[in-house]
Amino acid sequence: MIISEAFESKKALYSFEIFPPKPTADLSAVRGTIEQLAALSPDYISVTCGAGGSGNARTAEIACLVKKCGVEPLAHLTCINASKESISRSLSELSVSGIRNILALRGDRAEGARESEDFRHASDLVCFIKKSGLPFDVAGACYPEGHPEAPDILTDIRNLKKKVDAGVTHLNTQLFFDNEDFFRFSDMLALAGIDVPVQAGIMPLVKKSHVDRIISLSGAKIPAKISRMISKFYDKPDALMEAGIAYATSQIIDLLSAGARGVHLYVMNNAYVAEKITANVSHILGEINKK
Ligand code: FAD
Repeated sequence: MIISEAFESKKALYSFEIFPPKPTADLSAVRGTIEQLAALSPDYISVTCGAGGSGNARTAEIACLVKKCGVEPLAHLTCINASKESISRSLSELSVSGIRNILALRGDRAEGARESEDFRHASDLVCFIKKSGLPFDVAGACYPEGHPEAPDILTDIRNLKKKVDAGVTHLNTQLFFDNEDFFRFSDMLALAGIDVPVQAGIMPLVKKSHVDRIISLSGAKIPAKISRMISKFYDKPDALMEAGIAYATSQIIDLLSAGARGVHLYVMNNAYVAEKITANVSHILGEINKK
């Protein structure tokens, strides 16, 4: 089922994001992870790709593995360093592999990398996919705290509207740790006339390596509750794991209680974390999606 159809039949979707292994690594570890995630019956699993588009081939390969495990895949596709020809090749490959859902992204700027003359914004990629005539359902990214390059959140939302108008059928948010940012953002989207479903991106902070990397890369605001948790348990792996899972769980319960159209878990290929969080919210999801 394509993801926009799933949104028509359910009040809230629940999904995971994974990343492909390095090009030289074999697939057994990620295959095992996908099997464990598939057993949790998510609505879909998304597969990231490299900003240069270099990882797009592996993305298609892993998306196929997701499909073989009986779960709908959502393949990420970036365009910042891509040409029309290379994107056409990626689209053909995804289409031939039976992938029907694409998350269309610009990708992050890399220092020294030559940027595309064909695609400046994700909305250009969305238009290109739509014009290809291939039957893809296209999702896009959005930023409850504003995209770091945008001068302000209202400008960012005006730009987001162009992406949605180009043909995006649902949005996945950047990770955030303060639900109030998501609620405020949702109100602003409604005022801007953006009415596609928005899934909240939740990153469980369960490892010290995540804490360092994710916080600096995403630029997400860190609420005092999280700062206290990190400073107390930074060097205590078991305690940080437990606290990170509990924090993410409470964020998800609050979001679903407030009517969010779904949650997308950034599980960093860690099936254990996905299992624990899913066990914590499965009855809540069942109740919300009861027919
Ligand atoms: P855009 O929608 O193009 O927005 C980027 C900036 O340009 C914003 O500031 C926006 O306001 C501005 N803008 C947009 N359109 C216009 C316009 N028409 N005129 C003027 N300004 C405009 N990166 C990866 O490399 N691989 C991944 O797999 C990946 N997955 C992601 C998944 C999610 C859910 C999210 C939230 C991000 C992901 N990223 C990934 C990171 C993403 O590529 C970066 O955040 C990137 O900087 C922006 O991508 P975008 O698609 O949101 O870009």
